[in-house]
Amino acid sequence: MMAKTTEQHAVVVVGGGPAGLAAAIAAYEAGESDVLVLERDTQLGGILNQCIHNGFGLHTFNEELTGPEYAARFIDKAASLGIEYRLGTMVIDVSEERVVTTVSAEDGVQSIKAGAVVLAMGCRERPRGALATPGFRPAGVYSAGTAQRLVNIEGELPGREVVILGSGDIGLIMARRMTLEGAHVACVAEIMPYSGGLKRNIVQCLDDFGIPLLLSHTVVDVEGRNRVEAVTIAQVDENLKPIPGTEVRYPCDTLMLSVGLLPENELSREAGVQLSPVTRGPVVDQSLQTSIPGIFACGNVLHVHDLVDFVSQEAAAAGEQAARYVQGGCQTVAERGVPVVATDGVRYTVPSYVDPQRMDDTLTVRFRVANEYRNRYVSVYLNDKRIQHRKKRVMAPGEMEQVMLKRSDLLACEDLSQITVKLEEE
Ligand SMILES: Cc1cc2nc3c(=O)[nH]c(=O)nc-3n(C[C@H](O)[C@H](O)[C@H](O)COP(=O)(O)OP(=O)(O)OC[C@H]3O[C@@H](n4cnc5c(N)ncnc54)[C@H](O)[C@@H]3O)c2cc1C
Repeated sequence: MMAKTTEQHAVVVVGGGPAGLAAAIAAYEAGESDVLVLERDTQLGGILNQCIHNGFGLHTFNEELTGPEYAARFIDKAASLGIEYRLGTMVIDVSEERVVTTVSAEDGVQSIKAGAVVLAMGCRERPRGALATPGFRPAGVYSAGTAQRLVNIEGELPGREVVILGSGDIGLIMARRMTLEGAHVACVAEIMPYSGGLKRNIVQCLDDFGIPLLLSHTVVDVEGRNRVEAVTIAQVDENLKPIPGTEVRYPCDTLMLSVGLLPENELSREAGVQLSPVTRGPVVDQSLQTSIPGIFACGNVLHVHDLVDFVSQEAAAAGEQAARYVQGGCQTVAERGVPVVATDGVRYTVPSYVDPQRMDDTLTVRFRVANEYRNRYVSVYLNDKRIQHRKKRVMAPGEMEQVMLKRSDLLACEDLSQITVKLEEE
């Protein structure tokens, strides 16, 4: 690829959403003032710009902010530090040698050599094509995020009679938004026996508006040649197969899909970064460094988060570590630490590797569980020795969980070869 210029920056951040901004600020505050943020959109703030409901920032600011307000705190901070950013600039390649290739209308193709790269490209929605829903392909089938953008940014109402498939947070929030905008939401159908969204969103977005949540249900037919005219929903059995005779037809003009988010991982894959088959994001160590030295990852491109507050915390750690890398402080790569094994109801952990010699005094390990559980213990083992055992009344796949590892515990364990995070009944 022909690049117009070659410039250099200490830390290059790909993506100017909440993760990218928090990473850039932390890298700056850790002593690297030469930070560049690259954003393909026309404004900073990422997906938060279309999330106009409140509920953001409770952990970070102890306030209930809207998405744009939350983003603005970080945009203002970055501006006050004079952090450089480029809008309308799409990163099309990141090489193993940390050469970042961009394209923009103004500057054409450029290549930038980075001391360290922070990947913060966010996630995208799983589309209808991934679902194999039977029926026609008429207009009126939207992903919930597209509908959110249409309503909250473009000022368009995508439909008046709505059925939502999937109970991820964006779908729940859109059920409320569509109702507030004057549409009628007939129901939210969820194929699993539990919701994929936060409990607080089920209460505030469905229960408060009398919108039924049909667990163990899915769409089995979509009618309409030009525009959606009706969808049929049926109950599913324990193998997620529709049960004949349970079909109910819902006349509607809109089917909204909220069936999962996937890390935006093309750049990571092209760079040769090792990806987790569970999260679909990069495998990282305690520094949030990927399998390639000097390339770090954070936010939804690493694993899909439930709350943006945790995105900001994680991204700040990635930015700080990227600065330390540039300063020569952390040179290990992900596969060289002690593996963190997720098992018995724990789907994955971030990070996947921990080097006790190089970790901070404490390390937050985040994870999601595989099912809905009540009164289970979250246990941490160092080799065969259990060092943490904490009872949780309720755990669900829609909510992120975490444990805290202490460096002193890890260093005290002789021949530490495995850290295990799992659920136990007693
Ligand atoms: C449609 C949608 C709606 C959501 N609604 C909510 C909500 O209501 N509440 C909530 O708590 N969470 C919501 N989330 C989750 C939300 O994404 C996270 O809380 C948070 O925004 C993640 O921050 P991020 O910086 O990792 O990703 P994002 O906010 O997605 O930011 C990533 C940024 O990277 C940029 N980018 C991507 N690829 C490139 C590239 N190649 N070159 C340059 N720039 C690039 C994108 O344009 C974007 O600005 C939503 C997610 C989606 C997808």
